[in-house]
Formats: sequence, structure tokens, C-alpha cells
Amino acid sequence: MNNSPPNSNKASAFDAHHPPSNELIEKCVHCGFCLPVCPTYVLWGQEMDSPRGRLYLMKLAADGAVEMNSNWVSHFDSCLGCMACMPACPSGVDYGKLIEATRAQIERNTPRSSAEKFHRRFILENFTRPDRLRRMRLPLLIYQKTGLQAAVRGLGLLNLLPKKLQAMEALLPKLRRREAVAEFTPAAGTKRRRVGLLLGCVQREFFSQVNAATVRVLTAEGCEVVAPRAQSCCGALPVHAGEEAAAVEFAKKTIDTFEQAYVDTVVTNAAGCGSNVKEYGHLLRDDPAYVARARKFAAKCKDISEVLAELQPRATRHPLKLRVAFHDSCHLQNAQGVRAQPRALLTGIPGLELAEIPEAPICCGSAGIFNLVQPDTAKTLGDRKADLIAPLNADVVATGNPGCILQMQSALTRHGQKMPVLHFIQLLDASLRGKSIDSLRR
Ligand code: SF4
Ligand code: SF4
Repeated sequence: MNNSPPNSNKASAFDAHHPPSNELIEKCVHCGFCLPVCPTYVLWGQEMDSPRGRLYLMKLAADGAVEMNSNWVSHFDSCLGCMACMPACPSGVDYGKLIEATRAQIERNTPRSSAEKFHRRFILENFTRPDRLRRMRLPLLIYQKTGLQAAVRGLGLLNLLPKKLQAMEALLPKLRRREAVAEFTPAAGTKRRRVGLLLGCVQREFFSQVNAATVRVLTAEGCEVVAPRAQSCCGALPVHAGEEAAAVEFAKKTIDTFEQAYVDTVVTNAAGCGSNVKEYGHLLRDDPAYVARARKFAAKCKDISEVLAELQPRATRHPLKLRVAFHDSCHLQNAQGVRAQPRALLTGIPGLELAEIPEAPICCGSAGIFNLVQPDTAKTLGDRKADLIAPLNADVVATGNPGCILQMQSALTRHGQKMPVLHFIQLLDASLRGKSIDSLRR
């Protein structure tokens, strides 16, 4: 491939609102170190579905040498936004900012079919609204508890549905009793910090047990926890989907809400949300009323594993005799650079043995809304992960993002593996409370 983009006098294919930065694109020296960690390059071996190829396509569009036609767009739609290419890059190419800008350009300037538009709208208008997700709980509980789900799956009726709906159904978590989190929970013993908890949208309604476990662990370690009721979606899904205007509004609301809580730290326990709120300074860079506040807010945001790594452990850890396969969420390991802290948290539990899953940089296929909009590729990546987990003889898989939990549980179930996929904070919570792993399945 000729890696020198042609010079063209034509107008850029991008509009003038935050086009992908030429300066960032040109940091790429075409070395190819990012290729072996890019899931789509690993699967298909095609240059244009690698980080280097996608940067080249951005450059061609910026120079006006290509249009944003459907073929060009397909190479960005197939990008998971997993950011595995970033830690692998010796030149420090900030691919995260580039793909975010490219996605926003695509959504503003290229057409999508009516069916695709409807599907994306459905995801964004429901998965960013905890009230709507809560209303889905009852019909979903009926579907699961009456045996209807088992019957529908057993009879193969799902095959009659469009592929994207099949993918959504396959990802449904097993719904459990909703555990409410109080707006204020005092610290146990002497207070060490006042922290805010970002509840997430899917996490709040479908993984409320993770938020409840997070609060119990934080309070046991001397933090008082504020979980503002008024908090909205943080805007992570709109950012991943290229819906910049919606993401900006959610970010402003989140800042407004947490400023009223007067906390030292804002704790995140969903890696996709965590990586998004840490980038608020960039997202709100044009808004004079918010940019400084956004930077201050972002500096306070930390993953739960980072917060616990900063606090000297105070609560007693009871043994958990478990072999745990640890899965690095992309938005934790690549976007936030958090790898050591969740491992330290888990290995601090007596009796717990950690098993590393090979190919850690390769995404499981979850990646924001990727498994809902690109189900075939996501399934292939999920299957690959399940195959790598099988020989580890683990009792449980632990990770730090609800999207990964859904994706991996679905892949393991498909492969006949019965082990649960849990958030790592649930394991620490079980250890602090002296509970067995079985208590987490109920
Ligand atoms: S974000 Fe992930 S899928 Fe996209 S180019 Fe980078 S490594 Fe490949
Ligand atoms: S590793 Fe970085 S510099 Fe090398 S090809 Fe990939 S993006 Fe370009």
C-alpha cells in the first residue's frame, strides 16, 4: 500500500464542525504495531479494517480525495472503538479522539437506511433513559419467569426475527430483584472520603446488584456515598454512536448534578461511562460556561478499582476459594489505562486465584453499542473469547463493565459454559460480607 496520502485541491469531505484533526492523523508513522491488537484486522486481515488503514481513510476524506460513501463508512462502522490501538502505538496517535470526530461526521453527513435509523434511535432513546429501562423490567420478567423465553428459544422462533433483534434478545441478562441504592449512605467508622456514585443507565436498572455492592464496599472502606437521584445518562452511548449534540447535553446535566453533591471523588463502576466522563473537558471544549467545570469534574472521576487502590484496605477480607478468569474491559484497560488496580483488588482476597485470559487486548465484541449494530462480528469475537476461557477451568469470570458482562455471559452460555460473569466489585463485596459465590447467582 502507498502510505503517502495524495494531495488534493478538492474540498474536504468533512464539514467544518470538529473534523478529525489532521495534526493527530499525521502523527501516524505507518509502523503497523497496532495491527495485531486490532480485532477487525485480526479477524479479516484487511488493511482498511486496521487502525492504520482507517487513519489513511480519514486523511483521504480530509483531503477531499474520497467521499464519505457507503464503502468508506463501512470501515468505520466496523471499528469497535475499543482503543486497543492506542496503548500499542509508539507515536501516541490519539485514535480515540479521531474516531469520535469521524463518527459524528458520519452521523451528520451520510444517510442511513430507515431500518438502521430506527434501530439506532431505539437504542439511544431507551438505553440512555433509566425510566424507560425500568418500564421494560416487568414484561421482561414475565418473559423470563413464565418459561416463555425458554420456549421461544427452544422452538427456534427467534430465527424468525431480524438478526439485530435476535442479538438483542441473546444479550438479555437474567433479571434479578432490583436493589435500590440510597441517595446518601454514611461511612462505616471514621470517614475517609465523601464520594459520588455515577449509577449508569443499564447498570442502574439491570445490574443494580453491582451498584449496591459498590456502595457497601465503599462505606466499609470509610467513604460516605452520595448517589444523586437527579443524575441522568452520562452520554457515553451517544458519544460511541457519533451523536455529539446529545452527548454534550447529558454531560452538562451530569456536571450540574454532581456539583450540587460536593464530593471529593466521582466513582464509576461501568468502564464505558468512566472513560466518557474522564473526557468531558474535551467534549465541552467549545462551551465557555462549562469547559473549566468539565475539566474539574473529569479530574475527580475514578474507577472504583482506582479509588480502592488509593485507600489503604481497612475492612476484613474473608476467604473466597475461587479461580477467577479476569477479563479486561477495553474502556478500562485501553481508554482509562486501568489494568493493575482491579487485579490488585482481586488478589487481595484470601483464597482467590487469578487466571489471565489470553489475547487480553482483543475486545470481547461488546464495545458500546457495537454488539447491537454489528451483531455478526460481535458474535465471532464473543465466541473467540469463550474458546479462550474454556481451558482455564475458572469458577467465575470477572470484569468491570456491564456491556462486557452481557456479551461474555451470552457467549459462554452459547458454548455451554455455566460459569457466571460478574463485576469484580461483587467478588470483593462477597468477601467483605463473608458470603459465598452462590449468593451472587440468586
Ligand atoms: S478502536 Fe479497536 S477496532 Fe477500531 S481501529 Fe482501534 S483497535 Fe481496531
Ligand atoms: S501503531 Fe500508531 S503509528 Fe504505527 S501504524 Fe498504528 S497508529 Fe500508526
